[in-house]
Amino acid sequence: MSDLRVRFAPSPTGYLHIGGARTALFNYLLAKTQGGAFILRIEDTDVARSTQESVDAILDAMKWLGLSCNEGPFYQSDRFEMYKQKVRQLLDEGKAYRCYCSAEELDAKREQAKQEGRKPKYDGTCRNRTDQPDAPYVVRFKLPEGREETTFIDRVKGSICFRHEELDDLIIQRTDGTPTYNFVVVIDDAEMGINLVVRGDDHINNTPRQILLYEALGYSIPEFAHVPMILGTDKKRLSKRHGATSVMAYQEMGYLPEALVNYLVRLGWSFGDEEIFSMDDLIEKFSLDNVGRSAGVFNPEKLFWLNSHYIKTGDPQRLAELLQPFLADKGITIEGGPDLIAVVKGLQERSATLIEMATGAEFYYADQVSYDEKAKKKFLKSDNKELFVILQDKLSGCDDFTLDQLEAVFAEVMATTELKFGKVAQPLRVALTGGAPSTGIYDVLQVLGKEISLGRIAQALASLDQ
Ligand code: GLU
Repeated sequence: MSDLRVRFAPSPTGYLHIGGARTALFNYLLAKTQGGAFILRIEDTDVARSTQESVDAILDAMKWLGLSCNEGPFYQSDRFEMYKQKVRQLLDEGKAYRCYCSAEELDAKREQAKQEGRKPKYDGTCRNRTDQPDAPYVVRFKLPEGREETTFIDRVKGSICFRHEELDDLIIQRTDGTPTYNFVVVIDDAEMGINLVVRGDDHINNTPRQILLYEALGYSIPEFAHVPMILGTDKKRLSKRHGATSVMAYQEMGYLPEALVNYLVRLGWSFGDEEIFSMDDLIEKFSLDNVGRSAGVFNPEKLFWLNSHYIKTGDPQRLAELLQPFLADKGITIEGGPDLIAVVKGLQERSATLIEMATGAEFYYADQVSYDEKAKKKFLKSDNKELFVILQDKLSGCDDFTLDQLEAVFAEVMATTELKFGKVAQPLRVALTGGAPSTGIYDVLQVLGKEISLGRIAQALASLDQ
């Protein structure tokens, strides 16, 4: 156990993004590795953009990835009273002030600054104002005077220094009375005892402002670790152009959560040249020390490769369970058909996703085999009638499709027909599978079982070219 307290703080304005999922995963792993606490906080202060649907989507995606939290989910919308009280505190202490400047006035000043080649910043018009007109206002945090810079040591990026001349008096409460991100994030992180903030480096510019707020509110400052962005293969910020960016889109495409977890962690973290990490491996090995400073590049092919690895090596029973919705999507009913686990075992080698696996499973459960045209032309010819009749006869005589029995049947059929193994197996395979890629002929016979196999040979006999 340690006193480490980390958090993931998504804004519910859309699905869980690949980048957000990686941030969540890093935090989760840090807490697990060190026996600390992982806290989930939904940052829904932006009431207009936050939706329950997004909250659900984020929670579902985290559950699917296996990123359970120790505390939460907490909702900022439940905490407005506290934020209000903190605004009052800063106002009372003279560390914040009401600003009545209208949007039009601010726009005009911004425009002027631009024209004069100055960086647009709030000019402090209302800083020392003492009246309180009956007009809409925002609350601004006074940039502390007498200090030129704020420096912090980032656990990933090293020492970072911001000049205060870059900053201005930050709005902490909007005209509608709602608090803003930089303000509430500080209060929540402090009140929740977060001592290490791990997040995307798009927040690095917010950090000096937040540090000043920690100080003003009398809180101790946590450590920060800003993780580099994820880029597309063209080195531009990851977006839909580079492939799906929603975690759950990968579930829908038949990816396994362990493949995505393994993939996400490697986007920014390495451990020698190892590529394959189970969650247990990660909990043992993950540390911020091996998080790189440069951006990770999203490579869908690698994710695909990892997924096929996890499908190949996965537990067939679990894969069978995960496969079921994909079968249902294709209208495949497994009742009365071959054992699904046996089918899965045959498909693991040749499927990179659960969708591919569902496609591969199709022929096992078809009522009627649908033949590949070419295969039918080549193998379901009238010349093969005798072969199918003999196969039908011999296979009917087997009480069980053990490997020994099937081998004996084949030996007999080959002797009677004077055909080589391939000349027997290939037509039979087409009769059984329609020509779809499949495992060895004995395996197909065993998985389909006697009744279905004989039904398919009868179908083949009925459809032989005359
Ligand atoms: N709600 C913020 C976001 O989703 C959280 C930023 C932070 O981790 O401080 O970007």
